[in-house]
Amino acid sequence: MKKLHLVALFTLMALLLAACGTDDESNGSGEGEEEEGTTLYKVGIDTTYPPFEYEEDGEYVGIDIDVISAIADNQGFEIEFSAMDFSGIIPSLQAGQLDIAMGGMSITDERKETVDFSDPYFDSGLTLVVNEDNSSITTMEDLAGKTVAVKNGTTGALHAEEHAEEIGYEVKQFNDSPAMFQEVANGNADVLMEDYPVIAYAIAQNDLGLQIVGDRLNGDQYGIAVLKGENSDLLEQINAGLAELKDSGEYDEIMSKYLAE
Ligand code: GLN
Repeated sequence: MKKLHLVALFTLMALLLAACGTDDESNGSGEGEEEEGTTLYKVGIDTTYPPFEYEEDGEYVGIDIDVISAIADNQGFEIEFSAMDFSGIIPSLQAGQLDIAMGGMSITDERKETVDFSDPYFDSGLTLVVNEDNSSITTMEDLAGKTVAVKNGTTGALHAEEHAEEIGYEVKQFNDSPAMFQEVANGNADVLMEDYPVIAYAIAQNDLGLQIVGDRLNGDQYGIAVLKGENSDLLEQINAGLAELKDSGEYDEIMSKYLAE
């Protein structure tokens, strides 16, 4: 009798474990997770990227955080943030560990091969940034013979690599924006490429010893990404929510909260 009980117990445990296992596998499958009637989506973010995403007093804050949270409220889904290096966001989306990718992410044709983007929600663009003591660099042509710091997996890195051979400079990769800023502030690299609103915000917040030079190198726009071809319902919800935020004035409120002149 006792033996039978034990067998029953083990069978029950095995069943429970198996159930947990399948549940885990369904996480981030691109379909979201049902939780008390609402769907929970995992959102990948790059928290080294103020004013879009950063940590303050142990909480994630910023334009992207507020925008996706407002969309989720508006469309009736739940979100959970997952912070990672920017270069890991799209691979995690592809691996099914995320449902939504944000991160001041520029809409590019190359990325469109693996993700679907929402309507654009922010106009950005790359700029050159040098040490405040440097007066010899204002254009891409001035980079000949120099060392250029970029952040792995970004449009800045792509732009730098595209012109490296033709202009003749060395490219150094960093995993996050603060490390890249530090390199130029320390004089270990001559110049960096970063999105204008991000570096302008960083310079306004802290004395980084850096300055923005020249014209913007492009006119990138940011979008919210989901896995390509797998999530058209979610993408529709994101676009509908975004349009409502713009109509209601909530979008402008978020922008002025973080970008007050
Ligand atoms: N906008 C740039 C890109 O999409 C940089 C984003 C980032 O560093 N978080 O590549």
